[in-house]
Amino acid sequence: MKAIVYQGQKQIVYQNVPDPEIQAPTDAILKIEKTAICGSDLHFYHGPTREDLGEFTLGHEFLGTIEEIGTDVRRFKKGDRVLVSCTIGCGGCALCDENLYSGCMINTAMGPVTNVFGSPLNPGGQAEGVKVPFADTNMFRIPEGLDDEQVLFLTDILPTGYMGADLAEVSPGDTVVVIGCGPVGVFAQLSALIRGAALVIAVDLDDGRLEKAQARGCRPLNPSKENLDEVAKSLTDGRGADCAIEAVGNPATVQAAMSCVRSGGRVAVIGVVAGEQVTLDFLSVVTGKNLTIRSGIVNPQYYIPKLLPMIEQGRLDPTEIITHRMDLSEGPRGYEIFDNHEEDVLKVVMTP
Ligand SMILES: [Zn+2]
Ligand SMILES: [Zn+2]
Repeated sequence: MKAIVYQGQKQIVYQNVPDPEIQAPTDAILKIEKTAICGSDLHFYHGPTREDLGEFTLGHEFLGTIEEIGTDVRRFKKGDRVLVSCTIGCGGCALCDENLYSGCMINTAMGPVTNVFGSPLNPGGQAEGVKVPFADTNMFRIPEGLDDEQVLFLTDILPTGYMGADLAEVSPGDTVVVIGCGPVGVFAQLSALIRGAALVIAVDLDDGRLEKAQARGCRPLNPSKENLDEVAKSLTDGRGADCAIEAVGNPATVQAAMSCVRSGGRVAVIGVVAGEQVTLDFLSVVTGKNLTIRSGIVNPQYYIPKLLPMIEQGRLDPTEIITHRMDLSEGPRGYEIFDNHEEDVLKVVMTP
């Protein structure tokens, strides 16, 4: 079959790879119908070398139709339309039992974040087909009447954005700062509004993205033109924001999130800070302000059942972020467009 394969830094190739095969009785094989490029795919694109990682099929945001199931898969049958969690849980260990599938004791035996599709140990879904381990735990049936694009982002970035609002404990009446208006930031804004935030301050350097945030009901802020701390204080009688959600993955924006919240504020870091240190004066920034800081890899298995009904009821329309649609064979160009922020790109969706 054909797939988008990582071959090294900035070397993304559309090529033949072996067809996926059932290896364990809990596996399923999917024919992929839709798949997307994610900001975290770009960490491979920029990061390590081929010598570090070898060659593997990319992609952790995908859905499709079941072609084959192992003898122990109970909840699904051949022909079902399903979406798949980006992280792989076993569904049976002590941490999966606590909804912490991202820390699954079986699937992270090789270390943290080794249980994500589209990484060296788990061939991904930017391909014509994929093997899904522990299918009963990691696959979710797509309701009749919803099309692929409406549910595709439940695989990762919609639950990730919602998790930001959840970890920051966004509550009715709160003033919430969301730093970053990329795909995850957009979903964090929408999630904060759904949870009853009184005011969402959307922060980005891109005025085009800020205009869209304003249309969504947010108060736009470009930090090259306005001071976030001052604006947050001026809109909250001098206190500062109640919560901040960092959706960039940069040490400076993590610090900005901690700075703009009030004493007792809650900060969620859902951006991926990869290969960089975040330094902070712990006493004045955290202890002295009684801050709560939380972060994590998303557990779509926990959030999908909560978010899917909101899409079915029309309260959430995740398709608004799609700017580019292309054939899987054009994937390498898709990565270039996404990486270079060409053509006002926000999200690239591919069809094999
Ligand atoms: Zn992703
Ligand atoms: Zn587990």
